[in-house]
Amino acid sequence: MSLLKSWVTSANDPESGFPLNNLPYGVFSTGGAARCGVAIGDMILDVAGLGPAGIFDAGNWNAFMALGPKAWAAFRAELFDVLKEGAAVRPLVAQAEATMHMPFAVAEYTDFYAGRQHAENMGEILRGTKGLPANWLHIPIGYNGRASSVVVSGTDIHRPLGQLGAGRFGPCEKLDIELEMGAVVGAGSRIGQPVSVAEADEMIFGFVLLNDWSARDIQGWEYQPLGPFQGKAFATSISPWIVTKAALEDFRKPTPPRDVPLLPYLSEEQSGLYDIELSVHMGSEKLSCTNATRLYYSAAQQLAHHSIGGCPMRVGDLLGSGTISGPAPEEFGSLMELSWNGEKPFSLASGETRSFIEDGDTLTLKGHAQGDGFRIGFGDCTGTILPAIHTPDWAK
Ligand code: MN
Repeated sequence: MSLLKSWVTSANDPESGFPLNNLPYGVFSTGGAARCGVAIGDMILDVAGLGPAGIFDAGNWNAFMALGPKAWAAFRAELFDVLKEGAAVRPLVAQAEATMHMPFAVAEYTDFYAGRQHAENMGEILRGTKGLPANWLHIPIGYNGRASSVVVSGTDIHRPLGQLGAGRFGPCEKLDIELEMGAVVGAGSRIGQPVSVAEADEMIFGFVLLNDWSARDIQGWEYQPLGPFQGKAFATSISPWIVTKAALEDFRKPTPPRDVPLLPYLSEEQSGLYDIELSVHMGSEKLSCTNATRLYYSAAQQLAHHSIGGCPMRVGDLLGSGTISGPAPEEFGSLMELSWNGEKPFSLASGETRSFIEDGDTLTLKGHAQGDGFRIGFGDCTGTILPAIHTPDWAK
């Protein structure tokens, strides 16, 4: 596929992340109430008056998602007709003048661990062993996270307080990011009714960039035996636009060869990963870049695994992929890996060094799929770290 032209001239720039090929869904405001919109070039089309009557009244995309895949395709076709070259010009809002909000109400949030290089690196850093955990090649590892602290890009994040070790309490000293993709579940399933990988793929509405902010010291003290808890619960940032699965269809790639055959309920017939170039930035400096094809399990496999015991999925569920890292250090998707847990601090252009995030640092994830003369962009997933809100007197 090549660039599809729009009457919105900025959308025809090959470096715009938002050509007619993309049409991602967000929620924006310009002083008044939050409204649903679609990004086109450097502008936003307010979708009020389009689609089924009243479907966007809540100011998020949940009700629309609940209509299901046929309605998703019909609306995409409607938008295409409205925005294609030659269609009637309509009023638009400049992205530069809009404030972005959460594009959907997150029903529940589950975070997985499907980045093989990341899992191997963490094993070596934390346990001194290069191998993967014994279960890793058999099962998509995950934990049930918190939907309540998922925030949209641009939201400031306060450094969390917590237990850093036995009797030690205070602001996190090893604050980190995790470069991930987030899959947005647009169709639910019933309790006790597992879904196949193919059905899971159809249930996925789209994807966002996801930063699973992580307090490594809090996590390291608390995670045995039940896994991540407070070290992950304080904040998760997502990019503001849901890039639909339809926009990414041409960028599907197979999951990697299997070291160990997967059980039949996890096998997938269709390629379930996407060729999405990803990068991590501190301020204006790029720290690393990798690709979403580095994942071992697809979102559809993760969803199928999530449902196999009978756990129902809800419209608006968010599935984090797990940290995405490539084999070379310049492809690592967390500071824990980039600084090797502080053993090898990395240098910034300013001459400063970093092992973990300092107050005032702004971390940004970027991502796009590169087509022939066009890009499917996600919009930045950014957040600035502020000091802990308060440290109690007894901990000072
Ligand atoms: Mn994570």
